[in-house]
Amino acid sequence: MSSLPPLRDVIARHGLRANKALGQNFLLDGQLLARIAAIPGDLDGQNVYEVGPGPGGLTRALLGAGAYVVAVERDDRCIAALEELSALFPGKLTIVPGDALAIDETEIAADGTHIVANLPYNIGTALLVRWLTEEKWQPWWRSLTLMFQEEVARRIVARPGSPAYGRLSVLAQWRSAAAIALKVHRSAFVPPPKVMSAIVHVTPKQAPDGVDVQTIGNLTQAAFGQRRKMLRQSLKNLPGALESLDTLGIDETRRAETLSVDEYVDLARAIGATAR
Ligand code: SAM
Repeated sequence: MSSLPPLRDVIARHGLRANKALGQNFLLDGQLLARIAAIPGDLDGQNVYEVGPGPGGLTRALLGAGAYVVAVERDDRCIAALEELSALFPGKLTIVPGDALAIDETEIAADGTHIVANLPYNIGTALLVRWLTEEKWQPWWRSLTLMFQEEVARRIVARPGSPAYGRLSVLAQWRSAAAIALKVHRSAFVPPPKVMSAIVHVTPKQAPDGVDVQTIGNLTQAAFGQRRKMLRQSLKNLPGALESLDTLGIDETRRAETLSVDEYVDLARAIGATAR
């Protein structure tokens, strides 16, 4: 790692001035990057899928930890810098130029891949929801280690009854464990964003029996779409929902944010059963 050129030099040599439209806030502190790369556990010989490597700071840390990295980057200016890094780690780094939202990751990343990314904020939540709503469970990814704005990170790990608890919390917790692994001060980024950040670590658990992802997706969308309304109002257009509340003895005057993740699971299972 010590033989690598300083990241600031790489950025200057390739003219990688941060582009706001691409959500670019770079991390340059090697120690912090190594701490992030350690969050998924020992990566020696493991596969990692990285979104938005930019000039390659986090990529270096992942390679330094011994991982095989497939990295998707949309900004063509970064590709030459990443190719230099690839040459220093022969056979360890595959660079895929393109838009991570438009890519079928399963075609480029091996089964059992860890996903690690300092994501562009504007696409982070969309990718998270995509990865959390995979039909196949266990999914193709082994863990997610993702940077978010701290406020979004809090929503992902929130517990019932808190204002941050919502659709994202249920999607992240009904068949996964989600925790904030590290808070990252805004001053760690170049340029610093307006808000603080935090890294969320997600690992898949055994999925509960008899619940399909589409039903829990529709249920959480309806419930939290009108989170201030009573369930009898917010769920009235969801077929089977009111009947299922009754069957389970869940009071229909409750509001979305008071239901536990387990209650959402039970409700989705019961709604699914009414459709069969
Ligand atoms: N990982 C680098 C780091 O930690 O310093 C860069 C992080 S920067 C917040 C986000 C990176 O994602 C940028 O390099 C940006 O060009 C890239 N990016 C933005 N939108 C993307 C997309 N849709 N697909 C792939 N990469 C994207």
